[in-house]
Amino acid sequence: MSKALKKTKQNFFSKLFKSISSKSVVDDQVLDSIEEALVSADVGVDTTIKIIDKLEEVVKERRYNSVEEVYEFLREAIVQIIESHDAKHAQTSSSPAKVTMVVGINGVGKTTSIAKMANYFKNQGKKVILGAADTFRAAAVDQLTVWSERLDVPIVKQQMGADPSSVTFDTVQAAISREVDMAIIDTAGRLHNKVNLMKELTKMKKSIHKADPDIEVDVILVLDGSTGQNALIQAKQFIDTTEVDGLIITKLDGTAKGGVVLGIMDQLNIPVRFIGTGEQVGDFEIFDPEKFVNTFFEEERD
Ligand code: GDP
Ligand code: GDP
Ligand code: MG
Repeated sequence: MSKALKKTKQNFFSKLFKSISSKSVVDDQVLDSIEEALVSADVGVDTTIKIIDKLEEVVKERRYNSVEEVYEFLREAIVQIIESHDAKHAQTSSSPAKVTMVVGINGVGKTTSIAKMANYFKNQGKKVILGAADTFRAAAVDQLTVWSERLDVPIVKQQMGADPSSVTFDTVQAAISREVDMAIIDTAGRLHNKVNLMKELTKMKKSIHKADPDIEVDVILVLDGSTGQNALIQAKQFIDTTEVDGLIITKLDGTAKGGVVLGIMDQLNIPVRFIGTGEQVGDFEIFDPEKFVNTFFEEERD
């Protein structure tokens, strides 16, 4: 987590420190500086306003002896906002749904996240199977096949160009007959506004229920955290057209836009399940909102 937040923290605290260290009261100028730092960390305007309002309510005109005290005021304000959404961020990841469909636009890290999830749950002693339903590009099936070999997790696939729903159906059937704990299904990248491709997702979901009407299905949307506010906008558009049960936010390593995670938590009623912090299979963490905020404010700020 701290690795994921390194750049965001450096950027945020160095800016803030410069403008508030010479002051001793939480006045308008200090609040403005905090606001600016939050926006530049890609927290987003709406969530930033909420945080500033909370701070104004609680610590406006309060004296401080050190910058650390201001950071603590800010941390508390953010935790309060996150806690107001707590129920929606309950952890469910230790007992995954039987079928997980992974969706999102091209290049956000769907296939890599599937490998990471498979590895994560396999290490928890779960039996996992992969479904290569991104049949649109030959390389997509190959990529997932390489992961399946590396992780020693079985894969269900057909030739390139095959009907994604057919692969999905096969995967679910295999999951049932092999009595695995979870099937994770890769899908082709798609934009929310490509009507046919969005319909294809619905069809895939239908084919899951054709294999077993009662099976539990999770649709996980993968977002590229390094795109900052764009990730949030993309999520909102996706959610408008398809049901999404959870999120994975990738590429938080090497970006100064990690604040978008706060915006996503505050603005969407969908739990963030995992975050991706690198290209290796182990660069993946279960997401814990409070831990995320605490790590952000913990030492090592520059
Ligand atoms: P897909 O098109 O959504 O399936 O995306 P891929 O899984 O193929 O990933 C696209 C690129 O992003 C690849 O080069 C991955 O290695 C990279 N990637 C995925 N997740 C992360 C992450 O958390 N951090 C970093 N730095 N790169 C990532
Ligand atoms: P364009 O921007 O309208 O040219 O569309 P694309 O380049 O994304 O795709 C070209 C064609 O391939 C369209 O007919 C799409 O419906 C189809 N296509 C693109 N992505 C997928 C996919 O993920 N699955 C399937 N089945 N078809 C796709
Ligand atoms: Mg892929």
